[in-house]
Amino acid sequence: MSKEELKHGLYDELAKICERIIELEKSDRKGFSADDLVCADGVNGDAKELIRALVTIDPLTGLANFATFKDRVQEAVDRCDRDEELMAVVFLDLDHFSDINDDLGHSEGDKLLKMIAGRLAQCTRKIDHVARMGGDEFLLLAPGIEGAQDAGTLAHRIRRTLAKPFAVGGKEVSLTCSIGIVLYPFADHGIDGVTDPQSLIKHAAMTAEQVKDLGRNGFQFYDSKISEEVTNRIALEQDLSVALENNELILYYQPKANISTGEVIGMEALIRWEHPERGLISPMEFIPLAESCGLIHPIGSWVIREACRQNKEFIANGLPHLRVSVNVSAAQFRKQNLIEVVKAALGSSQLDPSDLELELTESMLMHDPELAVIVLTKLHKFGVSLSLDDFGTGYSSLSALRRFPLDILKIDQSFIKDLSDNHDDIAIARAIIRLGHSLGMTVIAEGVESEEHMECLAREGCDEIQGYLLSRPVPPAEFEQLIRDRLDAEALTDLEIDEISDLTSAG
Ligand code: C2E
Ligand code: CA
Ligand code: CA
Repeated sequence: MSKEELKHGLYDELAKICERIIELEKSDRKGFSADDLVCADGVNGDAKELIRALVTIDPLTGLANFATFKDRVQEAVDRCDRDEELMAVVFLDLDHFSDINDDLGHSEGDKLLKMIAGRLAQCTRKIDHVARMGGDEFLLLAPGIEGAQDAGTLAHRIRRTLAKPFAVGGKEVSLTCSIGIVLYPFADHGIDGVTDPQSLIKHAAMTAEQVKDLGRNGFQFYDSKISEEVTNRIALEQDLSVALENNELILYYQPKANISTGEVIGMEALIRWEHPERGLISPMEFIPLAESCGLIHPIGSWVIREACRQNKEFIANGLPHLRVSVNVSAAQFRKQNLIEVVKAALGSSQLDPSDLELELTESMLMHDPELAVIVLTKLHKFGVSLSLDDFGTGYSSLSALRRFPLDILKIDQSFIKDLSDNHDDIAIARAIIRLGHSLGMTVIAEGVESEEHMECLAREGCDEIQGYLLSRPVPPAEFEQLIRDRLDAEALTDLEIDEISDLTSAG
């Protein structure tokens, strides 16, 4: 077919489509789609594809256009309603893009938009949708997200991607953008009553507009409370990613003692984060964060290494052999390299395995009991002690517990708090102590704050205690001093006893 013939052919097709549009416009239907147009009698295959592309795709970037995006949002809304999923609609407006058009000209500006489209497609998941709204505005749809945090992480990733320089018009250009996010559908996340795609997109655009008003270069959720939470979390996550190399993480030590002799037999290593601006941050705040972003692996390995190294140093400084216990997180246990990490820490510190204990929780072991038995048995063979932390808060059965080679049972502190005047708690503590002993385990109570707690636990046959009564968790140097002071005090009492017995034998 010659060029002329092709042109005429296309004119024919176009004429048919125009007739179809007129026909559709005359009908009562509001709007029409690509499918409506290509239904015109006699429109051939190539033209159908061409029309479909023209109607669904943004011709400049090849991304989906607004109409297609709206359809995708509608499908996602339906799925959210049906499967109780959560999704995010993200509106992205480039900051000061008109300056680039002015500087480099529109054709270079168009090239840049194409590159941006490519990067956006790259930094999203397969199930996400990216579209161009028009001009310098883009849309993203993230279905099936777990929570607001996921959408925040996506926004963060987009901003980082666009900040990397683009080579355009012989220059290096890096971009910032203003992002608005709307979540659907949860009442406490989304917008009450808004379910149609157009409104969801409009609210995301309005939110992006607010970011612009606040000085651009940022992201916000429609709900400002969520924005604050997510922004804080992302900032903290970033700070945490450099905390290890900046030596901001430190281990505190809390002594554990034999309940009848008062002798300190070991200490629990408890991590702290000395944040340069925020001061000391509790592990309750940053360990869950570290677990969700994967930083728990380098941090958890460091804790084991550092606890072994420090314990060896305590011994080298003249302290008696004490067993240091380390908390293992669920993610760390699941990663299946715990044995290697422990081996390496013992190897590099030259600490005796009997001076190390790992604290695990019931839920961690019950997640995959078969695997847990294998891992614990290996660790036990090295000579490392194993304890079950927070006992009484989970649901493990006696038969399940029996399968694990555990040495120590730690009664959860929630049962100790009201021990002196709550008969139920006394009964629970008594039952745990008996259970532990019947399985041949040592039983320790944590959260022991008063003499009454200790007396009550001693009456019930508990073996060891840990808690503020002995000491709060303290930095290494303070811990060392604390042990020395206790040893001096013991020596003094021994001396007094000797003197008394000397006096009586002399008398
Ligand atoms: P946990 O393992 O149950 O640790 C005991 C917590 O109780 C510690 O809180 C300790 O400071 C606190 N505590 C000790 N004695 C008393 C007392 O008499 N009264 C009261 N009210 N509290 C007492 P901390 O240090 O804030 O640690 C909280 C949790 O963070 C720990 O609970 C543990 O689950 C986790 N954690 C701490 N360090 C690490 C770590 O290195 N790795 C991992 N994965 N988790 C850690
Ligand atoms: Ca613990
Ligand atoms: Ca505990």
